[in-house]
Amino acid sequence: MAENKRDYYEVLGVEKGASAEEIKKAYRKSAMKYHPDRNPGDKEAEEKFKEVGEAYEVLSDDDKRARYDQFGFAGVDPNYGAGAGGGAYGSGFGGFGDFGDLGDIFGSFFGGGASRAQSQNAPRRGENVGARLELTFEEAAFGCEKEVAAQRIENCSACNGSGSADGVIETCSQCRGTGQVQTVQNFMGMSMRSSTVCPSCSGRGKIIKTPCNTCKGKGKVRRTQKIRVKVPAGVDAGQSVRVRNEGCVGINGGPNGDLLVEIYIKRHPIFERDNMTVYCEVPITFTQAALGAEIQVPTLDGKVTYTIPEGTQTGTTFTLREKGIPAINNPRRRGDEKFTVVVETPTKLSKEQKELLRQLDEGLDSKSSPKRKKFIDVVKDFFD
Ligand SMILES: [Zn+2]
Ligand SMILES: [Zn+2]
Repeated sequence: MAENKRDYYEVLGVEKGASAEEIKKAYRKSAMKYHPDRNPGDKEAEEKFKEVGEAYEVLSDDDKRARYDQFGFAGVDPNYGAGAGGGAYGSGFGGFGDFGDLGDIFGSFFGGGASRAQSQNAPRRGENVGARLELTFEEAAFGCEKEVAAQRIENCSACNGSGSADGVIETCSQCRGTGQVQTVQNFMGMSMRSSTVCPSCSGRGKIIKTPCNTCKGKGKVRRTQKIRVKVPAGVDAGQSVRVRNEGCVGINGGPNGDLLVEIYIKRHPIFERDNMTVYCEVPITFTQAALGAEIQVPTLDGKVTYTIPEGTQTGTTFTLREKGIPAINNPRRRGDEKFTVVVETPTKLSKEQKELLRQLDEGLDSKSSPKRKKFIDVVKDFFD
């Protein structure tokens, strides 16, 4: 009886994680030992021989072995546990109210059963494919149209996706084109009808006599295709632009997948961005900073004249309204540009220029350099 069954691994005398080779070896050894020819009339040997054969049948089949490992005997024998409430999960069911759960478990016993067989020929959406696209700073800011190379599955052009070289496609006689065959299983004392994938046509419902040479009868080929992509203004690095229907071709007449283009942005020599704000550093001279000046500031729209005030300190940031990146969903709305002035200390001065600077420095008092004055005072307090 089922309840007295010994563990299959124990029957063969192998470890749980034994390799296929080890299982085979163990089976051969036991099968030879208990073979009826060697043990004529020995009932016990006959039982052992059967037990070993059953264990080997399950453990030598990857699929059955996996189900056995997961569900025990119930995973490989639908009659197991049929005895009064003594089954592996008899208590869990609580009668027939849980029939829905039973159906799920039943399905998993038979490799997905009906639902999988039915969906085999159902229309399904093709898979999405990815591609990457590198843009310049300006292309990302203002949008552009580009070509990307995408690898995707398409209908074979040689056979128009039929898979047949001569166009002759016959309806499978075993399943009459449905792709599934009905089987009746005995489960917990009940007859249960279930559908499995038709073995003759692998569930396709059709038989191709002469397969297409290009696609080997699959009807589909993997190809690298150039696809035009409209990149919207304001797109940022790491975002993806979706091109509808340019992914893999749909299955059984289902819709195509999409192409997802991941955006990369090349470094710009002077601009950086954070979301919609453009940043830029503008070098100015010591004199421009001291006296104030009209300076030329680069923006995405070209140069702009900007007046910096007298006594501008290095590192001061100014804002140019709406000179930044357009909003991705509303190109009329734009971010700002923030530029930072950096005072460049003059180098390689002539003797004369140095003399002039010394004269200037002597004339400067604490009012001209209040920060320095304050700093000196603090240092004095601290050390004296
Ligand atoms: Zn068939
Ligand atoms: Zn083909």
